[in-house]
Amino acid sequence: MSLLQTVKVLGLGAIALGLSGELLGWLQRRLRPARARPLNEVLFFPSEPACMEHLLMPHAQYRCSCPLSHDVETSFSRLLRHLLSASNTLDLCVFSFSNMDLSRAVLTLHKRGLTIRVLTDQPFTKMTGSQIGVLRKAGICVRVDYDAVHMHHKFAVVDGRRLITGSLNWTLQAVQSNKENILVTEEPDLVRPFVQEFQKLWDSSDPAKHCVPPC
Ligand code: ZN
Repeated sequence: MSLLQTVKVLGLGAIALGLSGELLGWLQRRLRPARARPLNEVLFFPSEPACMEHLLMPHAQYRCSCPLSHDVETSFSRLLRHLLSASNTLDLCVFSFSNMDLSRAVLTLHKRGLTIRVLTDQPFTKMTGSQIGVLRKAGICVRVDYDAVHMHHKFAVVDGRRLITGSLNWTLQAVQSNKENILVTEEPDLVRPFVQEFQKLWDSSDPAKHCVPPC
């Protein structure tokens, strides 16, 4: 083999090696398990009315006979699924909470033995339909925000790593009749500040630090 031929062969070999490296990298990126990528999902409301019994009572022996659509995926069912995916903790920071299906989801998690913390706005706990009393009666730890600056958050952190946040109030009106949005994400850079903010608000709402009238 002449020198020129040898150089050509070596050159072709180098190109082939480079290409195979590129191909390997591309294949690795393509074959990476989906769960390795942070979860991101956007949901828009109003949500199509549908029955949620299959999510809230998955072990029920009966088939629901209500007039709503069954076994359809909606924005609201996605939201419920994200909440019900919790396996350890749920931190909830919502200024109003009257949606009964969301309340049932939180109660379901409580029955499973999860650690649940609910932070809400004091005036809204007294409004008709508020679920805060129901949660408290079940033994869920609820704190109210005493600060003069209105707490207007609507976010939840599932297991300290999945953030659910957006414009949606936890009311039936918001779910069924309003144009709202929800972002669900496991991007650490987005979740971390919410975890820290929740802890800050939770600590500052410690009833031991506040003198509630008529004390
Ligand atoms: Zn039904």
